[in-house]
Amino acid sequence: MIEPTVYELSSPGRHGPMPPKLDVPEAPLPDGYLRDAEALPLPELSELDVVRHFVRLSQKNMAIDTTFYPLGSCTMKYNPKVNEKAAAMPGFANIHPLQDPDLVQGALQLLYELQAYLAEISGFDAVTLQPAAGAHGELTGVLIMRKYHQDRGDAKRTKILVPDSAHGTNPATTTMAGLQVVELPSDSRGNVDLEALKANLDDTVVGLMLTNPNTLGLFEEHVLEVTRLVHEAGGLVYGDGANLNAIVGVAKPAHLGFDVMHFNLHKTFSTPHGGGGPGAGPVGVVAKLADFLPGPIVALEKDERSGPFLLGPLAEEEHQHEHNGYRLVWYMPPKSIGRVKAFHGNFGVLVRAYTYIRMHGAEGLRRVAENAVLNANYLKARLQQEGSYPVAYGERTCMHEFVAQGIIAGAPDVHTMDIAKRLIDYGFHPPTVYFPLIVKEALMIEPTETESKATLDAFADTLIKIAQEARENPQLLKEAPHHAPVRRLDEVRAAREPILCRL
Ligand SMILES: *Cc1c(COP(=O)(O)O)cnc(C)c1O
Repeated sequence: MIEPTVYELSSPGRHGPMPPKLDVPEAPLPDGYLRDAEALPLPELSELDVVRHFVRLSQKNMAIDTTFYPLGSCTMKYNPKVNEKAAAMPGFANIHPLQDPDLVQGALQLLYELQAYLAEISGFDAVTLQPAAGAHGELTGVLIMRKYHQDRGDAKRTKILVPDSAHGTNPATTTMAGLQVVELPSDSRGNVDLEALKANLDDTVVGLMLTNPNTLGLFEEHVLEVTRLVHEAGGLVYGDGANLNAIVGVAKPAHLGFDVMHFNLHKTFSTPHGGGGPGAGPVGVVAKLADFLPGPIVALEKDERSGPFLLGPLAEEEHQHEHNGYRLVWYMPPKSIGRVKAFHGNFGVLVRAYTYIRMHGAEGLRRVAENAVLNANYLKARLQQEGSYPVAYGERTCMHEFVAQGIIAGAPDVHTMDIAKRLIDYGFHPPTVYFPLIVKEALMIEPTETESKATLDAFADTLIKIAQEARENPQLLKEAPHHAPVRRLDEVRAAREPILCRL
């Protein structure tokens, strides 16, 4: 096969199908539409050249549809194709956000029910679907917490406590909201250090941002005590819900003492992600924060006097809203922090998540968490049994992910990055590397529930084989990947200053 090494494939005189000869009277174009150069500098290619070019390019990406993708914290689970079918239904795909709500009651019902499902899953009292991603949900949540304190006239609260295992978006969000980050250390079992928490709790604390299970893949053993202590100090507890896949259908974050939390629909609820979006980061809150939610959100209005209900399941008769005086409306909460997104969020993503929830039901969602945790523990046990890679806090049962370390006895020069790059040669997407920051040479592995035992075994076998290669021929790893379209990149520059074409 000829694999062109240059990007420029143009060849003078080549072209795709030409339109048929004109069989209607010629109508001259208005002057404003006429080009003033003789010809545009467009590549000259046949249709087949173009098809091959783009299909070839598309295959250079790694994707969950082609490859095991154990990218820790990112929950790269299979995206069921039925979600796509639902989102492509003309009534959803062709809708306009400015349509009169009375003409799009079906779409509003979907949004309203999605708000209610997320509330049921998490135990919260009200939900906004507006935020476009997890980090955006975090900012929304922190702005709600800030406004809650301001509204009570408590202006001296300016600090947010963030454990040192947190995702980088937590301190970034805090700073963007104009608040100060106070970092909390972890204890010897990977939990928040309770003494450090107590020492930092006072009347200047807005709240704590906590990920549970945390980014070490560990369930916070003292979560009830942590949330109680923060509440006793007058603070609120923000839940980073990115790891909900480990507990969905099993435990409700609101019951653990969280006051506000974002969901990553593109993680737990299987909408496609990677490459920058679009995603969705709905935010759930306890009742006392509901008035601060960004709006508008979908509410149910029984009649004009009843005022809107934020949530609650739709009864059968309410489904026939037109006949019973029930109506779904856009509602702006009275003390809202305002809008955080144009229109109503990433609607297509919301349809996909709704479909996923309906396809699974409560029992199915619980099995998602159980199998995600089972798969992670199986993979962890296989690596521990072999002894090639240490596992941080490996004595504990992990949740949906665990953090191994790219530290191979007998191969002191080989690092996590080399192991990750070598995995690409074997056709696997690498795990998350060098995060969380508190684990040296971190290799954060999240298999998700959608992988078979055969895939997990193939991955474990490959990691074990790579450890052997590291001892016998470390240079092989240092120069990996050998079989990828590109070798080692300056990853930061490739993302920030991409060169998309060669001119
Ligand atoms: C993914 C993730 C986020 C951010 O979510 P985005 O949707 O990528 O903005 C925050 N915290 C944790 C723990 C995550 O894994």
